[in-house]
Amino acid sequence: MSSAVSGAVNGGVSFWYADDGLPAQREPLSGNGSADVVIVGGGYTGLWTAYYLKKAAPFLRITVLEQKFCGYGASGRNGGWLYNGVAGRDRYAKLHGHEAAVRLQKAMNGAVAEVVQVTQEEGIDADVHVGGVLEVAYTPAQLARLKAFHEHELSFGEKDRELYGARETAGRIRVADAVGSTWTPHGARLHPVRLVKGLAAAVEALGVTIHERTPVTEIRPKHAVTPYGTVRAPYVLRCTEGFTASLKGQRRTWLPMNSSMIATEPLTDEQWARIGWEGRETLGDMAHAYMYAQRTADGRIALGGRGVPYRFGSRTDNDGRTQPATIEALYDILVRFFPSLTGVKVAHAWSGVLGVPRDWCATVTLDRSTGLGWAGGYVGSGVATTNLAARTLRDLVQQDSGQAGATDLTALPWVNHRVRKWEPEPLRWLGVHGMYATYRTADRRELTTHTAESSRLAQVADRIAGRH
Ligand SMILES: Cc1cc2nc3c(=O)[nH]c(=O)nc-3n(C[C@H](O)[C@H](O)[C@H](O)COP(=O)(O)OP(=O)(O)OC[C@H]3O[C@@H](n4cnc5c(N)ncnc54)[C@H](O)[C@@H]3O)c2cc1C
Repeated sequence: MSSAVSGAVNGGVSFWYADDGLPAQREPLSGNGSADVVIVGGGYTGLWTAYYLKKAAPFLRITVLEQKFCGYGASGRNGGWLYNGVAGRDRYAKLHGHEAAVRLQKAMNGAVAEVVQVTQEEGIDADVHVGGVLEVAYTPAQLARLKAFHEHELSFGEKDRELYGARETAGRIRVADAVGSTWTPHGARLHPVRLVKGLAAAVEALGVTIHERTPVTEIRPKHAVTPYGTVRAPYVLRCTEGFTASLKGQRRTWLPMNSSMIATEPLTDEQWARIGWEGRETLGDMAHAYMYAQRTADGRIALGGRGVPYRFGSRTDNDGRTQPATIEALYDILVRFFPSLTGVKVAHAWSGVLGVPRDWCATVTLDRSTGLGWAGGYVGSGVATTNLAARTLRDLVQQDSGQAGATDLTALPWVNHRVRKWEPEPLRWLGVHGMYATYRTADRRELTTHTAESSRLAQVADRIAGRH
């Protein structure tokens, strides 16, 4: 292991918790109980849903059951990209028409603004900086994809997106060999843990009951079963994302995909002067095995990408530890992007799981015959999507219980979308590992061949995985 990464803390849930402190944990459930709505999972999806439901109908008795503590999952570990991407939009355009997908996209743009606004209203200091999202290309093939991506996004109504050449890109951030970039204003950088802690506190202050250290072992109509008792409610909402496979009957519903991150030590002013990045845009690239990064409020770079993508049998978590090889790989990306940072120390490395449905489409569902609902399958874009999903779940519950009618949100094309389950093992493991190995090979080929054509390998991998 190189000396730059050998001193890094590995795990401890995430750097964000090392920075802001692990929370004191709330009391577990003690015995059977009842509620109007039970929410399983205390991440952004569960907490936003509790927040909006309680605001809309303060008389509702809402209970959140969280296996560890609120923000233990991806919501306390992510890259802090609050942005307007939503998994599956293009497939929804094929299934429901372009106009329906444009409505979904516009709702996502609104979700970014909504999160920013609510953090202000609720006094949640989540280091939010609205600098937009900048995605760079550094090979000819990436540039061709970038231009196509840019045009594609414009066609979904994003008229305020901009395309930059090499010089304009360097004016914003000096990424080695960057030949172009695309920027959207619909994005912000934030501190994930501060957001999730603030949300949990806001929800509790509204009168929602949160039980932590309370794993739900089974969800069935009107019941959430835990080792400490069962909570009965007309509505039981599953908000467990990458952990869903651990629930009875859900093993092949959403595949738990790992994503890993590193955070550097704070950079010096001289180091920042060489890089630029004064706009603090969230930063990504156009590689097949893409990276994502942010400039943190305390002057670090937090950067993520795929590690070991998926563990056999849908195993999920070990408090955020990641593989040493993944830390090295992420460090290589860091210095590939910013060669002037060679030797800078990594302070922390961690990983988390996100949920991937078989067709890679995020969804919000309420089964009106059973009162069971769920939202998730966000793949890698849940920081803003969870907010839209939660407001949609609120509307679906209100509609079903007769408190309100259909809304613009209940008519979005991702509502009540069903998809088949993942294949049993070992096909699941082989498929996902094969896909990411192929992406990495395709990226390496594009770096060495310098052609503008995207590697066919990546397209084959996409098709096998059911991505396109
Ligand atoms: C490393 C990483 C980086 C990411 N970066 C970004 C990013 O920059 N931008 C972006 O948009 N998205 C990003 N994502 C995705 C985003 O973080 C997630 O989509 C989002 O946080 C999902 O929120 P959630 O509440 O649905 O799930 P989670 O935050 O995972 O919450 C689920 C909760 O349910 C609890 N739970 C699970 N099972 C049970 C059970 N049986 N009983 C009780 N409780 C249970 C868990 O403990 C957890 O707290 C990233 C994800 C990861 C892992």
